[in-house]
This record gives sequence, C-alpha cells and structure tokens, in this order.
Amino acid sequence: MSVMIRGDFDGGNPQSGEAILRRGEGEFTIHPFTEDGDPNYKFRMDLKISNTGKESRPISLTVDWETEAYMVHRDYCFLRDPGATGWRYLPAEVKKSCSLLDFPVLPGESYLCLHPKYNYDDYLQYMRGLEESEMVKKRLLGVSSEGREVWMVKISHPERPARKNLLAVARVHPYETSGSYCAEGILDAFRRPSAMTMDILVRYNLYVVPMISPDGVFQGYGKLTTPGGIDLSKTLDMADASCVLLKTVIDEIRPSIYVEFHNWMFKNVDGIYFMNYLQSRKFIRAMPPQEVFEKRWRAILRRKILSTPGFGFKKYCKENYRSVSVCLEYPWFGRSPADVKTLGLQSIVALSKM
Ligand SMILES: [Zn+2]
Repeated sequence: MSVMIRGDFDGGNPQSGEAILRRGEGEFTIHPFTEDGDPNYKFRMDLKISNTGKESRPISLTVDWETEAYMVHRDYCFLRDPGATGWRYLPAEVKKSCSLLDFPVLPGESYLCLHPKYNYDDYLQYMRGLEESEMVKKRLLGVSSEGREVWMVKISHPERPARKNLLAVARVHPYETSGSYCAEGILDAFRRPSAMTMDILVRYNLYVVPMISPDGVFQGYGKLTTPGGIDLSKTLDMADASCVLLKTVIDEIRPSIYVEFHNWMFKNVDGIYFMNYLQSRKFIRAMPPQEVFEKRWRAILRRKILSTPGFGFKKYCKENYRSVSVCLEYPWFGRSPADVKTLGLQSIVALSKM
C-alpha cells in the first residue's frame, strides 16, 4: 500500500475516510461532498496523496460527483507535486457523474485539488508573515462562529491619507480560491511603495478582507459561511458571525468602492455582476486584455444603463453608501496562481479609475 489518499485536514474535501474508496492497487473512487446538496456549488475537492515508495506510481481515480449537472466544468484538476510550489493542470475524462483521472504520483506528498488550494492555514501563514509598517496595518475584526480569525488589512498613504475608501473581500464562497490569490496579489503589490500604488493611495485607502468565511473554507464547503450558515453573497443575517463582522466594518469605513472577488466555473468568461452598463464599460476599458487566457468579458446587467440592485453586501453598500459595488468572477481555467495574483492587482488599479 504505497499510495494513500486522505482529505481529513484543514480544507479537505471529502473529509470522511468513507468517501475515499480503495478499489485496488493504485485505484480509488472519491466522493466529494457538498454541505447543502447544491450541485451549482459542488466544485471542491482537496486531497493529499502520499506515495511512501521510492518510485513514481501510476494511479487511476474515479471522482464521483453524484450529479450530472455542471459536469462540463469538472473535466480537469490541479496537482501540486511533492516539494513543488506550482500546480500542474490535469485533464479529466467526464463520464456521466464522474471525472476520470490517470496520472503518475511522485514519491512524497502531493495535493490533488479541483483548483489550487488556499485553506485556513495558508491564510494564517500569509497573515502572520505580512509585516506592518507606517502604510500597512493589520486588524483582527473578530472570530467566526467556530472561533477562527477574520483579519482585515488597511493600506494607506503615509503622509496623505485619502478621503475615500476601497474595500475588497474574498472567500465569500469558500470554494472560490482565486479570490485569495487575488488578495495576495493586491497586498504584495501595495505593501511596498511604488509610483503606481502611491497614485492610488492618495485617492483611496485600501482595505482587504482576504478570508471572510474561514469556517466554510476549513470545513471544505462550497457555499456556506459555517455549519448551518448562510450564502453571504445573497443573504444578510445578523445571526451569522461573518456577516456581522463584515457589516460592522462596512458601516465604519463606508466604502466608495466595494468589490467581492469570486470564481465561477465558466472556463472562458470573466464576469462582472452588479455594475451598471457605463461602469462595466469603463472597468473593462481600464483592464488589460484577458484574451491571452482565452477569456471574454460578460457583464450581467438586468437592465441596460440602469444599475442592478444586486444582493447581499453589494446591494447594502450601494443603497447605504452609494458605493460602486461589484462582484468579479475570475475562473481558474487557463490561469496559474501568479496570473490570478496579477489579475487581482489589475482589478484594483482599474477600479481606482472608476
Ligand atoms: Zn461566488
């Protein structure tokens, strides 16, 4: 038994050993889980594969999603080899409700994930390593229902703090790891003064909440904030700790621009929700072309010109503080973590020109 697969760790999915079946030497069937049965958010698989032998071993996986809905989005995975920092794209063959994967596993511990993982530990490690300065301030907003830390980072101009605030939030939906990479890309650029960052910081103080739903992330969820929690993208409920923390900070800073980073599954489309027509045209014009990643833009407008009221905190910010509110949907397909980090930064630059 030189190859073992497990998901019983921070962010693992499936976490139960019963959902990982060994059918024979190097052959496994995996049953990812969803916390509320919604196939439209069943896009999480985070597994550790250990090869205790000295040589590479071929393995054959059947990932049974137990739904035929949205299988067109489940025809690939990402693999991180032992000791590697980058992720390899693995194509999968889809048969009914299953994704079939055959690939060699190198000696050591690999990660097999639907998307490059970014779990609670990854976030804590990043936050611990983020040094404070005159410009960069970390603030613990509070803890989640299960006691996990919810942090915010404020970056402002050391001499000329701006009058307006821009707030960026990630991991509203726990499976959507691209938001975390966007947040890192933004923070990595803004923590060091440059002509570009200073030009933005005289106009906007930048606030970043890199992980608003740490319980959902830790539990391996797709959609909900915490066990028995809410879809924070659509619902505001003051019984939910993540919701209260975010509302408190929004009421304090009254953002001129409110942005949530999401990652939907449409492979070749980057999405813009809740901007009005003119705002979305302006945003797209300010962004570098994404054709190199085979992406086109789609702005979801209910009525042309008139703004869409939206849901959740997008609506709340717009109604209470006249914020420019937007939900950006950046899919992983065709992108590396470095590409997604750059995309996060580019989005802030474009939003600052609104
Ligand atoms: Zn989402």
